[in-house]
Amino acid sequence: MFDVLIIGGGVSGMSCALVLGSAYKKPFVIDKKIGIITHQKASSLQDALFNNAYGIPAGKLGSELLTESIEHLQNQYPHIDQIEGEKVLKIEGEAGNFTVVTNKNSYSSKIVVISIGAGNPFTIEGLDEYVIPHQKTIPEKNRIQLRNTDHKVTEGVYVTGTLAGWRSQLSIASGSGAAVATDILTLWNNGVHVQSHDSIRK
Ligand SMILES: Cc1cc2nc3c(=O)[nH]c(=O)nc-3n(C[C@H](O)[C@H](O)[C@H](O)COP(=O)(O)OP(=O)(O)OC[C@H]3O[C@@H](n4cnc5c(N)ncnc54)[C@H](O)[C@@H]3O)c2cc1C
Repeated sequence: MFDVLIIGGGVSGMSCALVLGSAYKKPFVIDKKIGIITHQKASSLQDALFNNAYGIPAGKLGSELLTESIEHLQNQYPHIDQIEGEKVLKIEGEAGNFTVVTNKNSYSSKIVVISIGAGNPFTIEGLDEYVIPHQKTIPEKNRIQLRNTDHKVTEGVYVTGTLAGWRSQLSIASGSGAAVATDILTLWNNGVHVQSHDSIRK
């Protein structure tokens, strides 16, 4: 049973995983099992070129980010389970006991984070009731989002990145994933606000 399973290893999903991973020393995180399902082949990031994203050197390819972010997470926070090459097909259950079905396996998780981008149609069965037209993209693009309040879709289900209704910019997606990570950390800390920082002074 995962405590959190992130679905989608693009910008917002990886950002969420990195912040959750970085909090491993906090007492309320030590016993938590965290995973991310990465299905990178079909990622739209494969075609992207970044010249305008904070902290990312100009000329960085999306295809490079897809592999480098996996290595970054693995090297820095190896306790995060990375499930590679599986596509999520269905989510069933309720907060505290979701079943996430992929094309190869099924997994149980208490919380799920959906980070699969705003492509239409929405390809995961079980969350259809939350799918609405994207509110911050021109209608001609035919994008969708999940209805949410500050990234929370319903009890135990969070959404990040463009699928949360944010405009498509790397920095926004990354921030969205980090925001959800800190919301989950705060939940685990009984509502006391949490951030996760490293410092050269420590
Ligand atoms: C061609 C292109 C150029 C861009 N250029 C810029 C730019 O110059 N500057 C900028 O700021 N932004 C740019 N962007 C936008 C930026 O890449 C996005 O805003 C950002 O990637 C959105 O992050 P996300 O997490 O919402 O989705 P993504 O990063 O798209 O991540 C979604 C992930 O979910 C995975 N996935 C999808 N379905 C499933 C499933 N069923 N099961 C498991 N995994 C699944 C995908 O493979 C993907 O890895 C560009 C995007 C594209 C496509």
